[in-house]
Amino acid sequence: MKLILLGAPGAGKGTQAEVICEHLHIPAISTGNIIREALKNGTEMGLKAKSYMDSGALVPDDVVIGIIKERLAQDDCKGGFILDGFPRTVPQAQALDEMGIVIDRVIDIEVADEKIEQRLSGRRVCEACGASYHTLYKPSKEEGVCDKCGGKTVIRKDDEPATVRDRLKTYHDQTEPLKGYYEKSGKLVIVQGQEKVEDTTKLTLAAVEA
Ligand code: AMP
Repeated sequence: MKLILLGAPGAGKGTQAEVICEHLHIPAISTGNIIREALKNGTEMGLKAKSYMDSGALVPDDVVIGIIKERLAQDDCKGGFILDGFPRTVPQAQALDEMGIVIDRVIDIEVADEKIEQRLSGRRVCEACGASYHTLYKPSKEEGVCDKCGGKTVIRKDDEPATVRDRLKTYHDQTEPLKGYYEKSGKLVIVQGQEKVEDTTKLTLAAVEA
């Protein structure tokens, strides 16, 4: 099963990707996590991406397409994968097609902008492993500590309110057109993001299995 999760930043793509990953035993691939890891390790790619990421803009297509090509060539992707945060532009979607990758389903998780702004103010991420939490909707067992690896959970720099507004604009301008792109091929399923994570999970799993 080859899946794409579409949706605005903070719609819950990462959280749902984790659930599907456990359910279907296929890797969840987040370009955002790969870029943050590169940044943490001080690689050339990470440093190149930093200014775009910090300002809420998209990293150039050639950089992320390169990242995805490399990642999808790894052995664990042979049985399928879930893409979280890729593609984010029409040229990125075209690059996937040109790689000969046939996507089975594209799940778009829809959440209103006002809700996104509220949600992202409560998001916390583990600075060690990238796991995502929310102070209200998905708190870690111990405040400030990652359940998975014991790392410190922090606020992402790009979750500051002004940057979130820029990221939403970027989403509407550059990523939302992908809905039309995948609708044409009959692969798009729309899921309304719910207040409770588990309710969105039910809808998402139903969309995967439909
Ligand atoms: P995310 O963790 O998915 O919200 O991604 C965080 C940031 O990483 C985005 O705001 C972009 O700056 C960058 N990024 C992640 N995925 C992509 C992509 N597919 N295309 C361009 N930029 C990306």
